[in-house]
Amino acid sequence: MSSIEEFRARALAWLEKNAKPFDEAAEYDLEGSSVPLEESKRFQKALWEAGFAGITWPREYGGQGLGPEELIAFNQEAADFDLPVGPFVIGLGMPGPTILELGTEAQKKRYLPPLLRGDEIWCQLFSEPSGGSDVASLQTTARRTGNGWVINGQKVWTSGAQWSDFGTIIARTDPTVPKHQGITMFIVDMHHPGVTVRPLVVATGQAPFNEVFFDNVEVPTDAVVGEVNQGWGAAVVMLRNERVTIGTGTRARSNPLGFDSLLELARARELETDTAVRRRLAMLYARESSLTAYGRVLHEETTAGAEIGARGSAAKLAGAELALWAADLAQDIIGSDIALGGADVERVITAIVAAPGGATAGGTNEIQRNIIGERVLGLAKDPGVDRNTPFNQLKLSR
Ligand SMILES: Cc1cc2nc3c(=O)[nH]c(=O)nc-3n(C[C@H](O)[C@H](O)[C@H](O)COP(=O)(O)OP(=O)(O)OC[C@H]3O[C@@H](n4cnc5c(N)ncnc54)[C@H](O)[C@@H]3O)c2cc1C
Repeated sequence: MSSIEEFRARALAWLEKNAKPFDEAAEYDLEGSSVPLEESKRFQKALWEAGFAGITWPREYGGQGLGPEELIAFNQEAADFDLPVGPFVIGLGMPGPTILELGTEAQKKRYLPPLLRGDEIWCQLFSEPSGGSDVASLQTTARRTGNGWVINGQKVWTSGAQWSDFGTIIARTDPTVPKHQGITMFIVDMHHPGVTVRPLVVATGQAPFNEVFFDNVEVPTDAVVGEVNQGWGAAVVMLRNERVTIGTGTRARSNPLGFDSLLELARARELETDTAVRRRLAMLYARESSLTAYGRVLHEETTAGAEIGARGSAAKLAGAELALWAADLAQDIIGSDIALGGADVERVITAIVAAPGGATAGGTNEIQRNIIGERVLGLAKDPGVDRNTPFNQLKLSR
C-alpha cells in the first residue's frame, strides 16, 4: 500500500469512529451553528490531535507537513461525513494561509497553532457599507498612536464575527495617497470592548453574517500583517486564498445541490428515468468532476508554492455558476412541492435560496469576469478613473 493509501485508510478509520455519517434529513446549516460551539472546538481539536488538521501546513506552526495528495485524500473520505467544523472554515481558508504567507515568525507561532487546535476562531473584515467590490475605497481608519494604532469604522457581511476571537481587518492608514496605496492589514482582537457585532438575518431566517462596528479599538504595532500601507497586496493574497477555498470544494454528499443529493431527490420523485432530468444530472456530474479536478491542480500548485494568480477567480466563478445552475435543476425536480416544503426537501430549498449569495461572497461573478478578462485573457483594463487620485480627494458617499 502506498503512503497515500495508508493515509487514506487511516483517515477513513478515524472518521468512521469519530464523525457522524452525513444525514440527509439534518438542517442545512448556513451559519455553521447547528452544533454547539464547544462541540465544534472539541471536534477540531480531535481532528488536529489525530493528524488531520493543517495537513499541508508546516510542522513548526502546528501543521502536519504533508502534501496536496494527502489533503485531497482526506477531503474525499470526509465528503460522506458531517464534520462540525463550520466556525473554522474562514480562519483555515483565508486569514490562516495569509498569515502563513505574509506574517512574521512571531505571528505564525502565536496564531496558527491555536487555530489548528480549535482554540481560536477567525473572521475576515473587508467589506464595508460603501465598498464591497470596490474594497479599496474602504473608509475604516487606523490612526497611529505612540505604541500602536486605533481603528474606527464599520464593516459589513462579516461571516462568523459572532463567535470570532480574532479578525483580519483592512483599514486606511494614509488618506493622502491613491486608494490602493494607503491601506494596512491588521490582526484585531474581536473581544476588545470597542468591537460591536450585530447579526444580519437573511431570507432563510438564519444569520450567517454580521455588521461589525469599531469604536477606538487599539491594536499594537506588531498586529500589522505584511507592511504598513501595503495592505492592498495582503488583501489580494487573502482574496486569492478565499477564491480557491470557495471554488474548489471536493464533490460532497453533504452539498444539497450536489450530484449525489439531486440524484437521490430525482429517484424519490421517480424522475431518474426522465430523459431531460437524466441529461441534466449527467451534466451536473461532469461539471462537478471537472471542478474537483481543477481544484486539485490549484491545491497542488498552491502547496508547491506556485503563483496561481487569476485562475483562483476562474475556480470561484465556475463554482458559483455551477451552484446557480444546480439550483435551477433542483427547483425543476422538486416542482410545485417547493411551495409546501417538507423534511425531504428542506435542506435543498435552503441551499436554493442561498445560492445567489455564493455568487456574491468572495467577489461577485462580474468582478471575477473582469479579473479573468484582464489578467488571463489580456483584454483592455478597466480605466479605473480614480486609480491615481489621492483618497482624500475622491468623491465618496460617507
Ligand atoms: C454569503 C456571504 C458571505 C460574505 N462574507 C464576507 C466576509 O466574511 N467578510 C467580508 O469582508 N465580506 C463578506 N461578504 C461580502 C462580499 O465580499 C461582498 O458582498 C461582495 O464583494 C460584493 O460587494 P457589495 O455587496 O458591496 O456589492 P457591490 O460592490 O455594491 O456590487 C453591486 C453589483 O454591482 C456589480 N459591480 C460592482 N462593481 C463592478 C464592476 N467594476 N464591474 C462590473 N460589475 C460591477 C457587482 O457585480 C454587483 O452585481 C460576504 C457576502 C456574502 C453574500
